[in-house]
Amino acid sequence: MGLSEYNRDQLEALLMVQHYLEGLPASELERLRAAVGPYLEFRSEVSRFQKEFLSEVCTQACFTTRQSACCNRDGIATFFADVVINALWSSVEDLRVLKTTLENDPGGFKCVYLGVKGCLWSIKPIVCEMFLCDRAKATVLAKDKNLSERWEGLLLKEKRFTWPDKPILFDDLEELFWEAGLKSPLMYCHLSPGLRRVKAESRKV
Ligand code: SF4
Ligand code: SF4
Repeated sequence: MGLSEYNRDQLEALLMVQHYLEGLPASELERLRAAVGPYLEFRSEVSRFQKEFLSEVCTQACFTTRQSACCNRDGIATFFADVVINALWSSVEDLRVLKTTLENDPGGFKCVYLGVKGCLWSIKPIVCEMFLCDRAKATVLAKDKNLSERWEGLLLKEKRFTWPDKPILFDDLEELFWEAGLKSPLMYCHLSPGLRRVKAESRKV
């Protein structure tokens, strides 16, 4: 059976990114990693919040019953920048595992990237990181105004990297490849009508 459209788009983006990065001089790779640094600090902050306040409910609700609403099949939109950032912090072996996983996907209800020990990405997509199901929101955030405000603060911080009403990392990383003549359906900052409108409106002011 051939690849699903979802897996094909993912695989093509991954191959394109890996090939492009392999052709860059070490200094340019360093520059890119440095540019991603503040985003990784933000990701650490989110991760600490989740470990501290959400791991209990997630363990009880999902990890012991394996009924998680997270990580459902084709349920996530991966941005092209997610692929680039992950590749910058992955070994050749890590990327090989992602490629063979996409190529040999047996199907089922769960995300293709969900391995026996969890997500196969080194730095998982931002949509996954910021997803909270209604149960987690009701159990943790709805009962504590302070926590709820902290989570809202993290959602606002996320926009500083992903929402193109100003120059942002996710658009910049796409642009690098776009300018090199490389295109992918995952380049939402360049291809999504909604995000293109946000960019166009912000440039008028
Ligand atoms: S966010 Fe919700 S669905 Fe995901 S692991 Fe936690 S409790 Fe389960
Ligand atoms: S990419 Fe990883 S975190 Fe995201 S849905 Fe798939 S397995 Fe879960």
